[in-house]
Amino acid sequence: MSKIYDVIVLGAGPAGLAAGLYAGRSRLSVLIIEKGQDGGQIAITDEIENYPGQIVEGESGPSLIARMTAQAEKFGAERVADTITEVSLEGEVKVLKSAKAEYQGRNVIIATGAHARPIGCKGEAEYMGKGVSYCATCDANFFEDFEVYVVGGGDSAVEEAMYLTKFARKVTIIHRRNELRAAKSIQEKAFKNEKIEFMWDSVVEEVGGDDILQWMKVKNVKTGEVTTVEADEEDGMFGVFGFIGTIPNNKPFEGIIDMDERGYIKTDEDMHTNIPGVYAAGDVRVKSLRQVVTAAADGAIAAVQVERSMSDYF
Ligand code: NAP
Repeated sequence: MSKIYDVIVLGAGPAGLAAGLYAGRSRLSVLIIEKGQDGGQIAITDEIENYPGQIVEGESGPSLIARMTAQAEKFGAERVADTITEVSLEGEVKVLKSAKAEYQGRNVIIATGAHARPIGCKGEAEYMGKGVSYCATCDANFFEDFEVYVVGGGDSAVEEAMYLTKFARKVTIIHRRNELRAAKSIQEKAFKNEKIEFMWDSVVEEVGGDDILQWMKVKNVKTGEVTTVEADEEDGMFGVFGFIGTIPNNKPFEGIIDMDERGYIKTDEDMHTNIPGVYAAGDVRVKSLRQVVTAAADGAIAAVQVERSMSDYF
């Protein structure tokens, strides 16, 4: 039988790494399981400006995450790269299974985060990677001196639009309303940026082209008018980046843990789910503010709750 950890943390984003750090510092045996790249969504974020006390101005997501990872490991958090597909959470020992292994822990902290919501237009899946993207940091350089469109009006859409102006000739933000949801400080920068234009009250209905993205149909939701946007003749293509929110990474827990109607895991303020010994932290849980700082705080709270539940002292 495999080792039984005091706590298994699922996910190595800010929530999971903070949980690993706090659990490690409490001398709990802790395993962090991450299926892909450390950092989750923050790994594909170009610039962080609002993590309190960050030591590098305009720090990138990957550099902040690298420091968080090193810190968690310094205090004893073990790491494994694996994808959990099946869980058994009842009872004192929780079992997490992947295709290649089985992991056991007395407690589990779910910090699996969230992923980009598709734009929801016709042709989207077909042109993914051929003009449609959800990650400016990953794909911006393919659009050096091209035109790109960003769909959405929240913090992500506006920040990523600004990042894209470093590459693209022109960036047009397509938003379904006539005012942005993004924080005012972020909006102000975007309005000042001469490379950014706006298509208000608009949604993308369809994208298409001859193997690469060359046209899209955009509908004005107020007038009902549909406009076909075509690639500049010399360019022969353009890009569409979708930033219209996120979907929680909750797969192995559906039907097992209480969630809201959108699939975010319900917790109390100490990160307890409805199952004893199972906690949720960060973007995967129901919360009002999804930020690096709130994810890290959730992870810390969950780990301290684990420590308290296992200690006679409290
Ligand atoms: P978000 O805040 O939920 O914004 C989603 C945007 O997409 C909204 O403007 C929304 O329009 C639009 N939208 C939603 N569904 C749509 C649809 N079907 N078609 C067209 N547009 C649609 O998502 P986010 O920007 O990804 O941010 C997620 C979380 O991370 C937020 O809590 C955000 O504050 C945080 N975040 C923070 C920072 C930062 O602090 N620097 C950076 C990135 C993200 P409506 O406005 O009309 O609803």
